[in-house]
Amino acid sequence: MSWESHVRRVVPYVPGEQPNKPNMIKLNTNECPYPPAKGVQDAMKDLKLADFRLYPDPEAGSLVHVLADYYGLSDEQVFVGVGSDDVLAIAFQTFFNSDKPILFPQITYSFYDVWADLYKIPYEAVVLQEDWHINPEDYKRENGGIIFPNPNAPTGLLESLDAVEEIVKANPDVVVIVDEAYIDFGGKSALALIDRYENLLVVQTFSKSRAMAGMRIGFAMGNKKLIKYLNDVKFSTNSYTMNRPSLVMGVESVRDDAYFKETTAKIIATRERVKSELSALGFEFPDSMSNFIFAKHPEISGAELYEALREKNIFVRHFNNPLIAEYNRITIGTDEEMDVFLACVKEYMKEKGV
Ligand code: PMP
Repeated sequence: MSWESHVRRVVPYVPGEQPNKPNMIKLNTNECPYPPAKGVQDAMKDLKLADFRLYPDPEAGSLVHVLADYYGLSDEQVFVGVGSDDVLAIAFQTFFNSDKPILFPQITYSFYDVWADLYKIPYEAVVLQEDWHINPEDYKRENGGIIFPNPNAPTGLLESLDAVEEIVKANPDVVVIVDEAYIDFGGKSALALIDRYENLLVVQTFSKSRAMAGMRIGFAMGNKKLIKYLNDVKFSTNSYTMNRPSLVMGVESVRDDAYFKETTAKIIATRERVKSELSALGFEFPDSMSNFIFAKHPEISGAELYEALREKNIFVRHFNNPLIAEYNRITIGTDEEMDVFLACVKEYMKEKGV
């Protein structure tokens, strides 16, 4: 027996690469192509180095309050964490403690099975319908909890609020987590349901629609009891998760609603334009309601297109999973970036005689 037999062994999640090349076009990790709101920049300039010697507010009160206000909730209904990954990991620990398997879609955010393994939570990956939508019927059986993204990733497909409600309603004995990392790009949030369903936790992030992936801010909304349980676990792990700059800048981001709406509207408009251009080129993709398009071409290998774009300094995301190996996930960048991307795709198709 060696010490290694006591190690918690995990196969870690592999995040999208973060290259830093001059003139690259980075469409691989669903970041926002526009900068954060102007108030965020001003707040950054006003930060005082001397304050950094002090711990931040363990309750993250200022950010919790501004979010509660924005979404029409009380402060006790909001929990913030270091990106939604942190919030989700804490939610797995807090709510998924059953011998029965938790359920999530087979094609989905690939962190879910990693957390389940890490925390020794049994799970079942539920096969999606043929059109890649979630069938609520598949979630009406014994389980230890449910999580799915809406819109789903990497498909980009949005489920209706009715479908979400059907799942939440059918599972009053477990917590249902709706991961809304991409909800601000045209979807309807399940937030509208939290007063009616005690078992519903809605998780969102500043990383995509608020252009603040680098600050690491995520949050959960639900009834007071759910939020209290999350806080109990957080305060049993690390009291000071939110650093001072994130708190100050997060608040400013929420305050500038006009900028938030303008930015998300621009991304949606670009997405719709890129959808028509890709369709015209023969690409096939689920009808995305997120800030990315998950596309394949019947005559082009997904992996080869990924490599060809990479050589031109354009980074998209390709997954090795055989179920989706023909696809690439293309984040929506600025109109200019998408024009360069489309021109490169056309050139590649010409070279290949497609
Ligand atoms: N959920 C989904 C579905 C995602 O795609 C991502 C982004 N990788 C996250 C959560 C986590 O994002 P963040 O930790 O930056 O909030």
